[in-house]
Amino acid sequence: NPIRSLLALQGAFAEHQTRLQNLRLKRKINAILVKTFEDLHRCDGLIIPGGESTTIALLARLSGLLDPLKEFIQTKPVWGTCAGAILLSQSVTGAKKDGQELLGGVSIDIARNGWGSQGNTQVESFEAALDVSGLRDSSVPFTGIFIRAPASVSPSIRRLLTASCSRLPPHLLPEPAEDENDPRTIVALRQGLHLLTTFHPELTRDDRFHDYFARKCVFPTCPIDFAYQQAIPA
Ligand code: GLN
Repeated sequence: NPIRSLLALQGAFAEHQTRLQNLRLKRKINAILVKTFEDLHRCDGLIIPGGESTTIALLARLSGLLDPLKEFIQTKPVWGTCAGAILLSQSVTGAKKDGQELLGGVSIDIARNGWGSQGNTQVESFEAALDVSGLRDSSVPFTGIFIRAPASVSPSIRRLLTASCSRLPPHLLPEPAEDENDPRTIVALRQGLHLLTTFHPELTRDDRFHDYFARKCVFPTCPIDFAYQQAIPA
């Protein structure tokens, strides 16, 4: 039985693990922690959690995982949540002065702290009920927990799964949206094998995004197992 895996370098990996363990009952997922290059190569899928994107990139570099991760992303399913979504983006604005190391993989441009940052008068963290097409029970809104989240600023991309932010109060939108298809309101999307959520599904008890990633991105037909990247102490 091949191991289907999942990774976390820093941040909310334990919460993802809990969600996957709950899902395991339904989908035979085996969530384990991975901390080496060898572990990564046993992986069939990967979650890059929320946390701090520059820290995750730095830890990936220090542990020799940066290039292996970039290669992994070329051919394997990867889901990035919040900081992980930043890392999967092709470009980032609002990074620190010398820019920011990204892994890439999804053709989206993202604004780091696009909803406001700490010390800013804008509200940077909030919850919003999201309408997400493509999820199981999609008529039930998904509670999006946004914690100093990035905001997408991409022009046209093919969106296989999107969450609408139409329920957000207008003052929380990064910029006034011109129409309901405005890509700046994208908070979740799937592009090919990759899933990106700018909020934290692992902080809810709702496993629908984990289920979605398992079913649609990792192994549409097989039972799945996952592994985790263990946190590397900073
Ligand atoms: N703003 C953080 C970053 O730049 C992400 C925050 C999060 O993951 N909740 O990485």
